[in-house]
Amino acid sequence: VAALAFDALRLGTHSQELLPVPELPDVEHFKDIFENAAFGKTVAKAVPIRHKGRLFRVLRNATENELRRAVEGQRFLEGERIGKFLAAYLSNGFTLVFHFMLSGRLVLTAYGQRLDPALTPYASLQLQFSDGSSLWFVDRRNLGKVFLTRNRDFARLGVLAKMGVDPTSAAFTLELFRRIVAGSGDRLVKQVLTDQRKVAGLGNVLSDLALYIAGVRPTRPASSLSPEEVSRLFGAVRESVDRGIAQYHGGDDEFLRERHKGGRCPRHPKVSLEAIVWGASHAYYCPVEQE
Ligand SMILES: [Zn+2]
Repeated sequence: VAALAFDALRLGTHSQELLPVPELPDVEHFKDIFENAAFGKTVAKAVPIRHKGRLFRVLRNATENELRRAVEGQRFLEGERIGKFLAAYLSNGFTLVFHFMLSGRLVLTAYGQRLDPALTPYASLQLQFSDGSSLWFVDRRNLGKVFLTRNRDFARLGVLAKMGVDPTSAAFTLELFRRIVAGSGDRLVKQVLTDQRKVAGLGNVLSDLALYIAGVRPTRPASSLSPEEVSRLFGAVRESVDRGIAQYHGGDDEFLRERHKGGRCPRHPKVSLEAIVWGASHAYYCPVEQE
């Protein structure tokens, strides 16, 4: 139940035009689902699902037959989250890569259990295991992608080949973060944080939380940040990831709860968070503390 908290929270608080989009904590959660559902199991059947009147293009770089030949009869060995992607490694050296985009998710059904009828119209791939259970890729917006590759060969998989540092890894150091900010010139700090080639896994929500914790306005040019602000932001990025992941374990984050139109700053209950939108990006921040 707690696992749904982050999703439910964001679905409940976003206005129509601002969709909840999977970020690092969500893909960590999908990785847990994948490992529970698929680890060590043999794929009996891979079924790309077609819906009348809806073109599902979930499989991006392989045909249905290529998918079947690659995965059927094989076992899943492990899953790895890379930024917002999930790589699932098979016993024969093939790899399935899931990109959840705006609304993709993984759903497990046990032996004899049917997929929730509310989700059925949005299911685009079923992996049926030899024990009768299934893992489903479900995507309301139909933008999610599944790629087939070998081992860790991501060279032809777009941004996955150029993924930046993972903020949960030991490689994410203050020194590296200083170099990232210093190399970003006048780009807005919000854009730097959400650039997957710089820092992998942050989206609109976690970047807002990190900037809120650090007291830095999202629209500040990276070059305007003082060394002290960069240092605060570095710690805040890690804290935002921890707080996002905690949402899946019963957490109830005040800022995330208030991060919507009309929401109040948890530290200034009389002040509404301000919202700005530009292109595909948007940000919420406290106009009092975030300078
Ligand atoms: Zn405030």
